[in-house]
Amino acid sequence: MKRFSRSLLSLILILGSPLFADAPKVEEVQPVMILGSGVGALTSAIYLQRAGINTIVIEGRNPGGAIAQSPLVHNWPGEIAISGQDLVDKIRKQAIHNGAKIVSEEVIGVDFTEQPLKITTRDVVNKEKIRTYKSQACIIATGSNPKLLGVPGESGEKGYWTRGVYSCAVCDGALYKDKVVAVIGGGDSAITEANYLSNIAKKVYIVLRSDKFRTVETRRKDELVKKSNVEILYNTKIDEIQGDGSRVTHLNLSTSKRLPIDGIFVAIGATPNSSIFEGQIELEETGYIAAKAGQATSAPGVFAIGDVVDKVYKQAISAAGDGAKAAIEAESYLSTLPHRVPSQTSSVKDEKIVAVNNTDPSSLEEITTKEAFYDAISKGDMPIVFDFYSPYCVPCRQLLPILEQAAETYKGKIRFFKVNVSDLSELANSYNISSVPTVLVFNTKGKMIENGNGMDEIQKVLKKLDSIASSVSK
Ligand code: NDP
Repeated sequence: MKRFSRSLLSLILILGSPLFADAPKVEEVQPVMILGSGVGALTSAIYLQRAGINTIVIEGRNPGGAIAQSPLVHNWPGEIAISGQDLVDKIRKQAIHNGAKIVSEEVIGVDFTEQPLKITTRDVVNKEKIRTYKSQACIIATGSNPKLLGVPGESGEKGYWTRGVYSCAVCDGALYKDKVVAVIGGGDSAITEANYLSNIAKKVYIVLRSDKFRTVETRRKDELVKKSNVEILYNTKIDEIQGDGSRVTHLNLSTSKRLPIDGIFVAIGATPNSSIFEGQIELEETGYIAAKAGQATSAPGVFAIGDVVDKVYKQAISAAGDGAKAAIEAESYLSTLPHRVPSQTSSVKDEKIVAVNNTDPSSLEEITTKEAFYDAISKGDMPIVFDFYSPYCVPCRQLLPILEQAAETYKGKIRFFKVNVSDLSELANSYNISSVPTVLVFNTKGKMIENGNGMDEIQKVLKKLDSIASSVSK
């Protein structure tokens, strides 16, 4: 055990600051902090950096925001068709190229009552790591959270959340190859989810509580409803989600029908992510931040953009427009302050951060066939960690650099592989993997000894690697 204590220490350090080696000095007063990392937030960062004003972007738990979950975007000017993740990656790289600092933290509290503004954050991976930033201006771009149905069987202790109930088809849809799924909702999100699933699943039900869709992308909806494996259930509500204790099996519908299904994807809109600003800035009754011209809020120096403020359009392009306006307004606000924080005027490309945050292929070896998976397990020379991921899953992307570092730490002691569930869904199903990321650990006898699903469980598994490695070397 002692032999590996340094390994464990270094892994704990990695878990502490996995994505941002070049951490900003928090005690300094920043000119502008941007809360959120969707296209609106990143557009603000680009505009401010181009104006010679330093920005720190708190990227939150969903880097890239809502559009990162869109498999294909057809209405972004200049792009005939592009995946949401690729689009946001391009904008992110542009922000970083211009000098924006992006940190993998989420905002847990703010104090906008006086200058400098205070923003408290928690590290996304190491939840014990709390920081308070001081800033002269702030742009809120915290977006929205997917709404849930609130019916029995959906979430909570006895619910099937991540065991058949999801809100992101590009993340978990691959696990439903040749299966039967239901998408709930009739807006553009539901069409996006159903379209993606229709290329994977045997059958896709789209369940609408009313008698009509409410989509902006009407052409995409018209093409989707013509597909032979897509069936629309109008005027139908979900009364209950039922399962066998481990997975979803049925939906109880308001039409008294019991619909057998394997998975359900809820796409019924979203609520603004604004609760942490309560009491600090004016909110509307619906929870949206009340914004005036130029995206200004009721607190001086605080601006709000995108889905947290926009209850009508909610388009990526309108969030980007908000972002540009807020950046220009923040710049002019800073110019009115008697003691403006100086910014470095050079917009130096920070290669280190680009390298940490990019989407280039990782150094973890990929398992591409079932045979290769079983070969690896049967080899028996070292324990093996398998990272089951899907390319568009945000936590999977956050986990990857941590696993890469762990692979380096345990080189020659533990082998690490990644498995794309989009390519090997049957294999994932054979291990009962119901969502990603999931990490499985096998011992040298080929027996599965650890199984972690989601970042919290996976962190617990990673903390056991030291003893797993030392038990082999004894
Ligand atoms: P929307 O608010 O547009 O649609 C929500 C859908 O869910 C409606 O069909 C609504 O039904 C239904 N719904 C709401 N609550 C319930 C419930 N409790 N039970 C059952 N059904 C329910 O949300 P979206 O997330 O689809 O879209 C939000 C915005 O984002 C829109 O402006 C949209 O255009 C945009 N968007 C654009 C995309 C694009 O590619 N251009 C992709 C995704 C989103 P009802 O109509 O009966 O109220």
